[in-house]
Amino acid sequence: MANHHLFLLNATINRIKKGERFGRLTAVKFSGRNNSGNILWECICDCGKIAHITSSSLLAENQLSCGCIRWYLYDFAPHPSPRKTHGRSKTRIARIYGAMMERCYRKKNDNFQYYGGRGIKVCKEWRDDNKSFFNWADSSGYADNLTIDRKDTNGNYEPENCRWITQAEQSRNTRNVIFLTHEGRTLCLSEWAREFGIDPTTMAHRFRSGWKPPRLFLPKNQIKRECKPRPKRSALVRLRSAT
Ligand SMILES: [Zn+2]
Repeated sequence: MANHHLFLLNATINRIKKGERFGRLTAVKFSGRNNSGNILWECICDCGKIAHITSSSLLAENQLSCGCIRWYLYDFAPHPSPRKTHGRSKTRIARIYGAMMERCYRKKNDNFQYYGGRGIKVCKEWRDDNKSFFNWADSSGYADNLTIDRKDTNGNYEPENCRWITQAEQSRNTRNVIFLTHEGRTLCLSEWAREFGIDPTTMAHRFRSGWKPPRLFLPKNQIKRECKPRPKRSALVRLRSAT
């Protein structure tokens, strides 16, 4: 019995390789179990901190850093393109990356439920190396007036599913496509949003996530929160434009 148990333990540990990366974390060694009996891996975070993370969290990609909050926005290699030399480009593309990562992986992000919460991920290449995202941006026509768009809104952030479009194109998509009939009236989504005093972007996200009235029209503070405390509003929330 003891041997059998040991075998299972090894099998679980072996699903993670020493040196394997999960976001900012690099697996260093098996480091025991936590109080609930879950297997822990000692990981070193790119920020230098050591963290002990359960193997299930690593494998499920639930934890991608030691917890250094909003690191995606602050810790960037310079934008590789020599064409865009003014500081704003560096900041902007980095913020697009940061906002994308946050939507998919940071549970406290206001929009997490519409992205990470629905299983939308960032491809491993981009997720683990922001420079590969910057390189893709350069080779796929990124410019400072464009925002990232997923062709299939249920698909992941990955080269095949992403393109750069203008903000105007993005709002036009949203405005034209979605009409909704409720209690005998047909209005476009942004008009419903105005009527119910809800942010149009939030409304569009909700709709795309399959929400139906009356829940679709509820103000944020009346929506029962499944798993999270109210996140603090921060500068990040304003980066929504990059969907
Ligand atoms: Zn860290």
